[in-house]
Amino acid sequence: MGDDPRAELMTLVASVAEHLRHEMDLGNPALPHVPAPSPAPAALDASPVSVARAPEAAAAPIAAPAPAPASEQSRGERLAVLADRARVCTACRLHEGRTKSVFSRGSDRASLVFVGEGPGYHEDQQGVPFVGNAGQLLDKMIVAMGFAVDEVYICNVVKCRPPENRTPNPDEATACLPFLREQLEVVAPEVIVALGRHAAENLGVAEPGRRWRGEWGTWQGVRVMPTYHPAYLLRTPENKRVVWQDLQAVVKAMGRTLPSR
Ligand code: SF4
Repeated sequence: MGDDPRAELMTLVASVAEHLRHEMDLGNPALPHVPAPSPAPAALDASPVSVARAPEAAAAPIAAPAPAPASEQSRGERLAVLADRARVCTACRLHEGRTKSVFSRGSDRASLVFVGEGPGYHEDQQGVPFVGNAGQLLDKMIVAMGFAVDEVYICNVVKCRPPENRTPNPDEATACLPFLREQLEVVAPEVIVALGRHAAENLGVAEPGRRWRGEWGTWQGVRVMPTYHPAYLLRTPENKRVVWQDLQAVVKAMGRTLPSR
């Protein structure tokens, strides 16, 4: 022991305290809390010794990412949000009988969109539009036009199946139209094909009692070709010829050519 035992004792205590703090810093849970020494007033710190210590990690809160503003959302994200809303929508009575809501299939960057009336049995079961016999015929028509099936976008006026496949009532179509409107705004196609009178009327390109099939119209500046629904063509195959004329007009309006056979 040196000349000043009291000073040596203070040095020993400080050394033990520093060791304990180091252990605490390493995470030793068995050690009691050792407060860091209060900084000595400058006037009393005759021989300052700087000890390098790692900066304490800030306890930053973990926050969920904020939803992106609509302008920053991708088309896919906006459509996914819409589809989620349709899944739980109860805005009209059609939700009472649905197995699954039926939102869309195809590309969210499609230049060509097909709009039908509403889901049938198979669509209601699978949650995908145009998957039954009418859907298979529609796919053949799309390929004949020179498009890949997953290159176009396909949806319906109403997202839930009407009982017995009846035509949706006006109040049901009106309740569901905001979904269709936003789908079309997001996809922003060059041309829309309205499949059947009901779709044509809800897109504003057909009026009751007037000729509608094969007559170009517009929806919010987008060209719309109304033609017969594939389900109708399954019952009246003699009408396939006029529908093919309508689809050929669409191909021509889009500046494309039919694939060679
Ligand atoms: S048909 Fe449309 S408006 Fe009616 S419940 Fe389904 S999603 Fe909602």
